[in-house]
Amino acid sequence: MKGYGMFNVGNHGWLEKEKPTAGPLDAILRPIAVAPCSSDTHVMHGGAGPKENRILGHEAVAQVVEVGNLVRKFKAGDTVVVPCCTPDWDEVSLQKKGSNNAHDSELMKSFKLVSSMDGVFAEYFKINHADANLVLLPEGVSVDAALMSVDMMSTGFYGVEMADVQFGDTVVVFGIGPVGLMAVAGARLRGAGRIIAIGTRPNCVELAKEYGATDIVSYKEGDIVEQILAMEGKVDCVIIAGGNAGSMNQALSITKPNGTIANVNFYDATESFQIPVLLWGLGMSDIKIRGGFCPGGAYRIEKMLSLIKNDRVHPEKLLNYKFEGFDKIKDAFILMDEKPRDLIKPVVHINWD
Ligand SMILES: [Zn+2]
Repeated sequence: MKGYGMFNVGNHGWLEKEKPTAGPLDAILRPIAVAPCSSDTHVMHGGAGPKENRILGHEAVAQVVEVGNLVRKFKAGDTVVVPCCTPDWDEVSLQKKGSNNAHDSELMKSFKLVSSMDGVFAEYFKINHADANLVLLPEGVSVDAALMSVDMMSTGFYGVEMADVQFGDTVVVFGIGPVGLMAVAGARLRGAGRIIAIGTRPNCVELAKEYGATDIVSYKEGDIVEQILAMEGKVDCVIIAGGNAGSMNQALSITKPNGTIANVNFYDATESFQIPVLLWGLGMSDIKIRGGFCPGGAYRIEKMLSLIKNDRVHPEKLLNYKFEGFDKIKDAFILMDEKPRDLIKPVVHINWD
């Protein structure tokens, strides 16, 4: 079978691979919609992850082709939403606290697509622990909206959960790419008062306002810390969904004592934080700094889909470049890599008939 991925660092194209086979708990799926992500291009350029011969892609809605003999909830022909994180739910260290990072210190263990197995840009792909990870596409939820729930919405909302946004809180969101935009939408759903989004790209600014941003701050109009302190003073919560390691000091500069900084940005391994202790209140500020990525599995995605089905959020608005056909995965991936200024998120629809 064919799949789009990396031959080695920096080189991408169509790979030929054996069709995956299902173990007792697995499902074999065919994608009907996929969305390339900056994490895919990051891996291809040699960021954290595999270095060769890997099919990329971790955001998909798919059709079930085959299930293992212990899978109870799904059968061939079902249309399913595939979380980007698929924990091995029988692994005890993943049950201990959160499902993402194994407690025998294996970082991001549940992010298996791309990281430890072939991804979704393939004619067929495998999902482990199908019953605990997959969700039937609910009636009344579009494929596009479901596709945006598996990573963009789940990750953006996790930023809001980590930031512990409360009614009336003032929240700053760094970065209004697709994850930051979902963090804005999530902050509004959690009852934030003022939501200040930091970004410049016109279509993202427009969507940020639609999702609930009350104010937009642009670095083009001066130092963002000074702008925020002038308009609001310090804030309750900061969600970092873009920028670089330097964003942490900006976040600390605008966070109230007892406030929370939640990071969902994936840093480059070569970066480092250099935090003047005064920014963290000499260690006495009670400012919490958290970082993580979206929880995986069916339960999580069911919650995201419930918000969509009940008209609370419309993540499909992120998809502003649309492609038709399996072969177009290549074009969509290259687009993601080149990131034109107006790109928010691309989608490829695939009809196998
Ligand atoms: Zn992604």
